[in-house]
Amino acid sequence: MDLPIIYHPAYVAPLPEGHRFPMPKFGKLYELLLTDGVANPEQFHTPKRPPTEWIELVHTPEYVQAYCDGTLDPKAQRRIGLPWSPALVNRTCTAVGGTILTAQLALQYGLACNTAGGTHHAFPSYGSGFCIFNDLAIASRVLQQLGLIQKILILDLDVHQGDGTAFIFQDDPSVFTFSMHCEVNFPGTKQKSDLDVPLPVGMDDDAYLQTLAKYLPDLLSEIQPDLVLYDAGVDPHAGDRLGKLALTDTGIYRREMLVLSTCVAAGYPVASVIGGGYADDLDALTYRHSLLHRAASEIYRKYHL
Ligand SMILES: [Zn+2]
Repeated sequence: MDLPIIYHPAYVAPLPEGHRFPMPKFGKLYELLLTDGVANPEQFHTPKRPPTEWIELVHTPEYVQAYCDGTLDPKAQRRIGLPWSPALVNRTCTAVGGTILTAQLALQYGLACNTAGGTHHAFPSYGSGFCIFNDLAIASRVLQQLGLIQKILILDLDVHQGDGTAFIFQDDPSVFTFSMHCEVNFPGTKQKSDLDVPLPVGMDDDAYLQTLAKYLPDLLSEIQPDLVLYDAGVDPHAGDRLGKLALTDTGIYRREMLVLSTCVAAGYPVASVIGGGYADDLDALTYRHSLLHRAASEIYRKYHL
């Protein structure tokens, strides 16, 4: 058995030509993991669409229904930033199912990686910033509801603050939200995570990794989570269109190794999602996202999970 990786062809839903959201990256990531020999076909697990009641553990029934039926008002639709289509509804729900499955497999095997997920700007009654339903929050609530876990740490290293996630769990001590993000970036109005670490524009590999290393071990030993949900957004990369930080590929890879080895060595299971990443060079972007799966494969073998 090798590292469980979660993928579904429905992760790619067609968008209008030239749309700024890099939708093809999900399919390209799947292909790259296979062609580079990072993963073999047997390692891939296929998620299902979750029942609506699971999505409603986080989102209001009105919002879920309006989004799925395509009846959201134009303003709410614009805030999401992705044009509605039945294929996008299917993609959105399947990706949520993917993060739920990733979390379940992480509990079983110690480590698992989705090839999508990290829609952390979604709030209970509205979507925002390319995020429609909050997969991290839904997976947390579903696994708690199933009685599989109690305490969860959401480790959000996407360059944007995990504002939706912070809001959803603001009064819930069973889910600890940690967000390390660029301080002057979307969202304009920040929410209060349990721990926010805002970073200055232009921060490079060494400063970033030192900052992370300062927080991570104490966070784990204080919270002692039953599961870590890791949002491994690659938008802190210097080449990212939206990021404003200055990490290199090596820096991203070192970050994934630091996060995964620190958690796994201490016995905490980790479910990872790929989070944000925006670049015109889709191959370079896809490679950045694959660093998570490369690092996770290495850790999975090293610790004989
Ligand atoms: Zn982001």
